[in-house]
Amino acid sequence: MPSSNLKRLQEMLFSPSDDVEVTLSFDRDEQNIVYFRGNAKVSVELGCQRCGEPLKMPVTAEFQYAPVNQKVTAEDLPEYYDAAEMNELGEVLLHPIIEDELILALPLVAMHAEEDCAIDRNAMTFGDLPPEAEKKNPFAVLQQLKK
Ligand SMILES: [Zn+2]
Repeated sequence: MPSSNLKRLQEMLFSPSDDVEVTLSFDRDEQNIVYFRGNAKVSVELGCQRCGEPLKMPVTAEFQYAPVNQKVTAEDLPEYYDAAEMNELGEVLLHPIIEDELILALPLVAMHAEEDCAIDRNAMTFGDLPPEAEKKNPFAVLQQLKK
C-alpha cells in the first residue's frame, strides 16, 4: 500500500515512511459471515520525546473485520470481529481501516533506549557543567535569606 495514501499516518511521523506491506485474506466463516483478516507492517521514524531526534521502529498491526451495514450491524457480529462499515455502494474501504490500525499500533510515547538517546549521550560526552553552574547550589539563595 503506497504510504502516500496514508496521510493521517504520515502526519504523525518524523519522516515519511516507506510503503506499507499488507497481507489480506477474504473468506466466509462457518457461520457464513463474510470477513477479512490480515496484517500490515511498516518501518517508521518517530520523534523521540526526550531528545527530539528520529527513532526508527517497526510497526505491525493484525486485524480481523467483518463488513456491516444497516441490516447487519456490529451487534450481530461475534466479538472477535471488528466492524468495517460498508459505504453506499456496499464496499469496504480498506486503506482507512489499515491506516487506523497502524495509528493505533504506534507507541503513545516514543523514546530511545537510554543508551541510544542523544540526550544521555550528550550528558556523558559533554557532561562537564561550566564551573559556574556546578558551584551554584539552588539552596544558596535560601541560605542567604536565613542569614
Ligand atoms: Zn532520544
